[in-house]
Amino acid sequence: MGAATPRPIAFLMICAQKETMKTALHADVVIVGGGMAGATLALALDQAGITPVVIDSTPLDTRLAPEFDGRAFAIAYACMRHWHKLGVGEALAAHAQPIEDILVTDGRMTATGVKPGPWHLRFLAAETTDHGDGTDTEALGYMLEARHIRAVLSQALVDRGIETLAPVHPAHLETKPQGVTVTLDDGRTVSAQLIVGADGARSWVRQAAEIETSGWDYHQDALVLTVGFERPHKGVAHEVFLPGGPFAILPLTGGRANIVWTEPRKTAAGLMALPHEAFVAAFARRFGDHLGKVELLTPVWRYPLRLQRALHTTAPRLALVGDAAHVIHPLAGQGLNLGLKDVAALAETLAEAQHIGEGLGAETTLARYARSRHFDEAAMAYGMDGFKHLFSNDIAPVRLARGLGLAAVDALPPLRTLFSRIAGADVGDVPKGLKR
Ligand SMILES: Cc1cc2nc3c(=O)[nH]c(=O)nc-3n(C[C@H](O)[C@H](O)[C@H](O)COP(=O)(O)OP(=O)(O)OC[C@H]3O[C@@H](n4cnc5c(N)ncnc54)[C@H](O)[C@@H]3O)c2cc1C
Repeated sequence: MGAATPRPIAFLMICAQKETMKTALHADVVIVGGGMAGATLALALDQAGITPVVIDSTPLDTRLAPEFDGRAFAIAYACMRHWHKLGVGEALAAHAQPIEDILVTDGRMTATGVKPGPWHLRFLAAETTDHGDGTDTEALGYMLEARHIRAVLSQALVDRGIETLAPVHPAHLETKPQGVTVTLDDGRTVSAQLIVGADGARSWVRQAAEIETSGWDYHQDALVLTVGFERPHKGVAHEVFLPGGPFAILPLTGGRANIVWTEPRKTAAGLMALPHEAFVAAFARRFGDHLGKVELLTPVWRYPLRLQRALHTTAPRLALVGDAAHVIHPLAGQGLNLGLKDVAALAETLAEAQHIGEGLGAETTLARYARSRHFDEAAMAYGMDGFKHLFSNDIAPVRLARGLGLAAVDALPPLRTLFSRIAGADVGDVPKGLKR
């Protein structure tokens, strides 16, 4: 957390209540959606001297409740750098489990458990992020529970005095050459030079701007839960590709792990309907015994998986970031990282625009933002889609080809380094905020 004295989250509610007195609010940028992408953008704009207002339709205490979101996210090391620059790195680091090693295998289910294939691929932090200049190596990434990220970011919004209205629903968007006005369902209005949709997969902003999406349903669901076990995980993330979908064991602080267990939708529904004992037995068969006896610490959450890409990420006086712009398969844990790269790129573009006296919502400004994100976003979305199709099947020649592929990458250190730098959000057109 930055230099400011932390204040309780309840303070945010008081700010929101005070705001109910005002009927017309003005800001430089109105951000719809105070999730992880939206809150990070608000902090980055505030740091650049641009005034944001954040509006979110979900009450803050609902978003902060542990049962709201059972996921933990693999945060790319470059995205973690940005959070440090925004003054929230230290508070997040207190909850972060560094990923020191990633082990990828291709396996099949048998009656007794997972049978790994003969090939594997291993990424080691020491090999990948050694900058060769005497500075410390970074971890491959950091596992952070959603509940901690949301709490730290929300507290930072309060500490910086960033105006946040929640719960409130946007009802109408009016776009004029000089700016936008959002009318809220309680009759208040928020006017700004630019509106940003950071309101997730079902984005209201995207729909209000009539931006279409493309994509498809994966007919797979991810079951998510947190477990404890007997032996130390040593910061190793395991990803086993099974024909039904990937099974990931992601290390957390306190000797725990977050599990992302992907199955075809019907199988996932069947697993969720099992009596507790039978579910635990099915889970333990996949988890194996390499970490000793396993214990379920949380309920199980279920997330349907799909690919969804907005056909445009900008419109007059409007930009999309995060899941509002793209939803991708979570097999490599890159969805939020993509969103955080959008945020860093948009904040950088808007800061430049302000510096050179170009309007924040100017067509040229928004075109620069869209151009800077297009290739990275499309490559990641279709890359994950390709991996999903390559690995979610049990066809013998395909199994052989992907096994050889894993072995080939494993045998070539420069290729391994390239892959882990891609996962670290540290390749290509990297926004300044994500650089060292
Ligand atoms: C199983 C699973 C595992 C994943 N693991 C990883 C991982 O390891 N690493 C990674 O990088 N990514 C991962 N992802 C992807 C990640 O979850 C998403 O990319 C991320 O949550 C998107 O964040 P966001 O802030 O864009 O959207 P959201 O988190 O959806 O936030 C949207 C916000 O907008 C608000 N909102 C919604 N509608 C409105 C409205 N009409 N008006 C106002 N506010 C509104 C909501 O209340 C919310 O606060 C995973 C996804 C899944 C399904």
